[in-house]
Amino acid sequence: KPMQNIKAFKDQLSQPRKVVILTHFKPDADALGSSLGLARYLKKKGHAVTVITPSDYPDFIAWMPGNEEVVIFQKDKPDRCAKLVADAEMIFCLDFSSLNRINEMGGMVREAGAKKVLVDHHLEPEHFADFEQWDGTAASTAELVYQLIVELDDQALVDGPMADCLYAGIMTDTGGFRHSNTNHKVFQIASDLVARGANPYKVSKLIYETNSLERLRLMGYVLWEKLQVLPEYKTAYIALTADELKRFGSQTGDTEGLVNFGLSIKGIKLSVIISDRRENIKLSLRSLGDFSVNEMARAHFQGGGHRNAAGGQTNLTLEQTVKKFLDLLPQYKDQLLAD
Ligand code: 5GP
Ligand code: MN
Ligand code: MN
Repeated sequence: KPMQNIKAFKDQLSQPRKVVILTHFKPDADALGSSLGLARYLKKKGHAVTVITPSDYPDFIAWMPGNEEVVIFQKDKPDRCAKLVADAEMIFCLDFSSLNRINEMGGMVREAGAKKVLVDHHLEPEHFADFEQWDGTAASTAELVYQLIVELDDQALVDGPMADCLYAGIMTDTGGFRHSNTNHKVFQIASDLVARGANPYKVSKLIYETNSLERLRLMGYVLWEKLQVLPEYKTAYIALTADELKRFGSQTGDTEGLVNFGLSIKGIKLSVIISDRRENIKLSLRSLGDFSVNEMARAHFQGGGHRNAAGGQTNLTLEQTVKKFLDLLPQYKDQLLAD
């Protein structure tokens, strides 16, 4: 799916621009990888580029080339980012398509005079951008960044570091080429990226096999003590208190992936992890097949995402949130038990 007004977009980029690239809050490998890959490309084209993340992010993605130049937004010192956004001529929004996904920065972007460019694959996008490279069927944003570079006829500029960043996004958003979004196009683009210098072994090692002992212990504890299974609803869930997270010295990103354990159980179609982040309660939802966690997160947990992977939050207590989730299950029972 090419960008609709690609000619005007090319026009925008025909002279050096001040560019800001934004990821969503708590960026994952797709958000950061697609942003750093795009940043490297735009710099090669002569633009002045700054990547801003609305929050910090885990060490297992901080190896990405260009990471050292990322500006992390700080709530108590918003001025630097506010100025970068206000001064930008173009703002790229990567791996999110509603401005509430960048928290405090949403207002700044809404008011900015810059041309806004959306590159994303989340469902039900908010149309705030002047240019949209949006495809809800794409497995990752990194894939769309690569397609954009191809549309601009610049594949030859994709080098090893750029390819590693984009490959990381594709690998993680497909769960290591395992989720139902893994298709021919995914392998084709991944293969192109490897041909241009991405190193699959290095990237997967850095992302999947650099656990801290604490994280591994947290996994063990969660599997042994915390994973609850409700076969009558084909559902598994985990609830983690703030104290439990603290006990294992939990770092940003440590709970990532835990939700997939529930879904790996035979017969389970819905898996949820509910964790007490102190500032709010965060939910991560995953499903198999037609059951839409995007719909569930949107309707009940101020969130959204994709059909089979979504997130949300509440301002209730952990216990209240668990109860709210459990109380919802009867109304979804028919859908959960279908086929
Ligand atoms: P995760 O569970 O890994 O945090 O997120 C799963 C998917 O849902 C990701 O694609 C993520 O971008 C999206 N997502 C997570 N939290 C939220 C949220 O609060 N709102 C929306 N709209 N999407 C979310
Ligand atoms: Mn993401
Ligand atoms: Mn993504």
